[in-house]
Formats: sequence, structure tokens, C-alpha cells
Amino acid sequence: MFKAARYLFILAKNKIVWLSLLIILLAAVYWVYFSLSYFYEINFLEKENYKKFFIRVRVDSGKKEVSVSADNLLRVRDGLTGSLLKIVESPGKTIVFSQEDSGIKVDDTIFQATILYLSLKPEGTIYIGKTAYRGDFKIIKGEDGLNIINMVEIEDYLKGVVPCEVSALWPMSALKAQAIVSRSYAVSQALRRKNKEYDLAADTYSQVYKGKDAEQWRALRAVRETRGDILTFNNRVLPAYFHSCCGGHTQDITRVWGEEKISPLSGVECQWCRWMPHFRWQTRVQEDKMIIGLNEKGYDILSIQNISIGDRDDSGRVSFFNLNTDKGLIKIDGMDFANIVGRRFIKSLNTQVKSYPGYYYFSGYGWGHGVGMCQWGAFGLSLRWSNTEDILKIYYPGAGIDKLWGVIGGEQREQETKKKEASLEKKKKYRRFFIFPLPYVMK
Ligand SMILES: [Zn+2]
Repeated sequence: MFKAARYLFILAKNKIVWLSLLIILLAAVYWVYFSLSYFYEINFLEKENYKKFFIRVRVDSGKKEVSVSADNLLRVRDGLTGSLLKIVESPGKTIVFSQEDSGIKVDDTIFQATILYLSLKPEGTIYIGKTAYRGDFKIIKGEDGLNIINMVEIEDYLKGVVPCEVSALWPMSALKAQAIVSRSYAVSQALRRKNKEYDLAADTYSQVYKGKDAEQWRALRAVRETRGDILTFNNRVLPAYFHSCCGGHTQDITRVWGEEKISPLSGVECQWCRWMPHFRWQTRVQEDKMIIGLNEKGYDILSIQNISIGDRDDSGRVSFFNLNTDKGLIKIDGMDFANIVGRRFIKSLNTQVKSYPGYYYFSGYGWGHGVGMCQWGAFGLSLRWSNTEDILKIYYPGAGIDKLWGVIGGEQREQETKKKEASLEKKKKYRRFFIFPLPYVMK
């Protein structure tokens, strides 16, 4: 004991020890200051420049009954007047909404309302059935049942989209490309469908969204690191369509939905999905099944003698099919025919067809409508070390990447953000140099 004290006394008299302690203290102060200032700037970006953008996603429709629970105080309001109808105080308690002629029934009480608005205070999770969601909800009384619409901030929405659209194990550049593409697509739909009941469906017709349960940390990182980034063209948000696999060439948008020409969506060659799943496919379709499908669309035929390709467009996709039937020759638009037979059989219009007794044999390339980014091609590119910008430039030539709040909230805001971001980038470089762990840990 005495020895240790004596040793300490000698150490205390040593100037070098004092000097090193001082240096350590200064380093610690600098470290704390640096980390705090970094967070201050991030907060500045989020609070001052980040403008929340809410979208409305229809997660379910035509329900006679829906059970809802929440992990916080759930408030149910009349969606039109805003008046408070009910507070569910015990978290985790399930309440049942059902459709009634005179309104919407909540547990045992019928409210004469056509829209109910569900929100939480403080923020939390709302469960629709067993699926967890971020954001608020609208329950709308429709013609065939209740429509369930999630009102969710775009960044929260993307957290539940990116890992459903692609694998969260893909390289970061491909995940980030998907995040930017999904954000642009969602925003463009929201701007276009302002007067409709909802902006997007939650399935493959829009993009797949499975709420909070689907979230994966790598996909969360891709969303966070592209926060607010959207594709633009002529100062407008690009409707950044995408699909699974193009099969060699992406499609011109004018040929799919008869939309006006948009040059970043006019089709490009793609050699990066060649070795990927869905590049090549084949399938048999029974003649009877096809006849049933065609008759449901009002064709009224008994037999098909032969199917052949009527014409192909520049990308090699079938524009229309010729069907020799007992009612004579029928010409059917390629897309309509694929929808009648089923998109899981005819996966793309880059297809060949052969006739056999009783069935037809289709073989083709790619999966999906073919417009915009080829997801498997983006994966192929990311394996070749392409960064996010390169991937997006290839599939949307001529489109730029801007901040959402710059395009929607005005130029001024965007310029300020860019300045702030540049200074953040600089700080990040310093941070890497000094290897400060705190910002990484706290992220
Ligand atoms: Zn491709």
C-alpha cells in the first residue's frame, strides 16, 4: 500500500505524466465536441430542411371486418369532421371494425361515419390483423367493404418496401438504387393521384410493402443513406418504373401503358441480367384454361386452332398475337393476352409460342413489364462494383438525382441542403481520419 502511494507520488511529480494527462483530456473534450457537432448538423438537416412527405398506401381492401391493435394510446376520429370518437387506452387491446349499412361499427358501437382516422400519441405501432405498421390509418367504407389505408411518411414507407422488392443481402449500391427508384415512383404516384382515395397499393401492382415486420437493417441503411433522393427529369419527379428482369433490353413506356414519351424511360440495352434467375423461362398453358380466360373477357369461342406472333416492337416484345379460333382470326394486344392467360405463365412479352395438341408452349426472356430499372440487372451491375449513380444512369439515361424537398419545396431549400451536406461530407472525412467511434456507435 505504502509502496503504491509512493509510486503515485513520484508519478505526480513527473511533468511528462501531467502533460500526457492534459493531452488525453483535450482529446476527450475535442472528441465530445466533434461528435456533438456532427449530430447537431444531422439534426439540423432533418429538422430544418427535411420536409415530411406523407403517402397513402392501401394495405387491404374489401374487408367486412378488420381487427386493430396498437402499442400506445389509439385515438379514433371521424375522418371528415375530425371529432374524437373513441380512445383505446390499454395498449395491445384488439378492437374490431366492421362495415354496417349506417356507418362503421367499432366493437359494439356504430358510428355514422364513412371514414375513420386512427392515430397514436405518442408515436408507436399500429397492428392491422397481425401486421405491424408505422404511421396512421384511415378506414374507409367502400362499396364492397372496408378499405384500409396507411398514412405513412415516405422514408418510413420505404423501410417496408426495399427489403420486399429486392433481397436485403444484395450489395449496398443495388439496395440504394432500389431505395431511390422506389421513392421516386411513390412520390410521382402521390402527385398524380392527389384526388384519388389512395396513392399506392401494397402489392406488385404498385410496389410490395409489408410494413414494419419486413424491415431489415441493411435495407434501413440504404434508405437512410439516400434520404430524400429522387430521380428527376425536366424539374419533375420521374415516375421511376422498375421490373424484375428485362431479358436483354428494357421497354419503352409508350408501348406499355400508352403514356406520353419520357426519354429516360424509352428503353436501353441491358447485359447484366443475363446469368440471373428469370432471364429465361418456359411454360405450358392448357388450351381449355385459355378459352375460359378469353370467354370471361367476352370473346365467346369454343376452340383455338393455332396461336402465332402478330408483330414485335423494337425491343423484341410481342405487340399482338394472332389467334386462329372457331370464330375466325382474332388479334389480341400482347399485354392484354398476357393478362388473360396470367402473368405468372407469360412472364414477359419477349416470348415465342408453339402449338401442340391441347396445349401451348411459351418460352421467353425476362420477367415483368420491362420499363425502367431491371432489378436483376442492377444486382449484376453492383457485383461489378458499379455505384448507385452509375446504375441509375444506365437505366434512366438523362435523369438527375435531386432532393425531394428541393423539387417539391423549392430551389432555395435544396441549395441550403447541398451546402450543409457538403460540410457534413468534409466532417465525415475527418472523422474517418481520426477514427472517432462515437458517431458510428450512436448511428
Ligand atoms: Zn436486364
